[in-house]
Amino acid sequence: MSTLRNLTVLGSGVLGGQIAWHSAFQGKTVVVYDIAVDALARCRLAHEQYAALYVSNLGAGEADVVATRDRLTFATDLAGAVAGADLVIEAVPEVPDIKRAVYQEMADLLPPHALVATNSSTLLPRDFAADTGRPEKFCALHFANEIWSMNVAELMAHPGASRDTLTAVAEFAVEIRMVPIPVMKEQNGYILNSWFVPLVNAAQSLVTNGVATAEDVDRTFMIGGRPIGPMGLLDMVGMKTAFDVLHYWGTQTGDPQMGANAAYIKEHFLDKGRLGLATGKGYYEY
Ligand code: NAD
Repeated sequence: MSTLRNLTVLGSGVLGGQIAWHSAFQGKTVVVYDIAVDALARCRLAHEQYAALYVSNLGAGEADVVATRDRLTFATDLAGAVAGADLVIEAVPEVPDIKRAVYQEMADLLPPHALVATNSSTLLPRDFAADTGRPEKFCALHFANEIWSMNVAELMAHPGASRDTLTAVAEFAVEIRMVPIPVMKEQNGYILNSWFVPLVNAAQSLVTNGVATAEDVDRTFMIGGRPIGPMGLLDMVGMKTAFDVLHYWGTQTGDPQMGANAAYIKEHFLDKGRLGLATGKGYYEY
């Protein structure tokens, strides 16, 4: 049993909202922090959808939902949000400068014992360890979208992380009913995104280059029984995060196709407010 009872989630978007709800449902006391009040309002709306889903699909009762809500609070004040934290999970945008700034701002505000984990999809914990001011208490714990059914949590260390930190974070993952998956070497994208990002990037390339429509890309994947195709998966990820990943890695690697895919997503989705499943519109309408 870990001693990590009080969780603070930084960033209340697609993944932060899911991690917060699910952890509270599993008995943790959770503070959700965001810089944007409207993001917190959207998170609360998403939580109502999760409440209905946990009742219909996971056998939760009304009392479980009420107890989950009671264990959640929302904050825009970072000092107050982390003051009581045993564990902070960072789920702010996949933009290194944003993550770095949050870690630096938080470093002096954390209780001495607090552990910190990043939910970054593709960046390495070593990139941020020094910014946290507590490298030995920092690692990556990466959740998958639709946490309630895709219940894996990839655990990745950096050279300065302590074994106690990794053990406690792995225990926390088990306590919230995740299957912890150790990533035995530092790897951008862990296990999951090492194949998932190339998959959706390849699918997006077909659409960007006019080879096929999004619907036909998905049909080739879904005929035969798969419930969702790569373009639908992009909607699920969220277009902002999809853009951030493709833009960053397109720039880092100099891959022009990845850059073109990021530009396509910006023009056709971000600039039109079609941010994906969370906002009801992306490649598809929900
Ligand atoms: P998102 O865009 O849905 O949400 C990000 C949230 O962070 C927004 O609510 C935004 O207001 C907030 N934010 C921005 N700057 C902030 C700051 N300085 N302090 C606090 N909050 C701030 O993003 P997301 O898709 O939830 O992704 C968050 C992280 O989780 C990223 O690192 C991403 O790679 C990772 N992740 C995403 C998915 C996915 O499927 N979307 C899956 C696994 C991991």
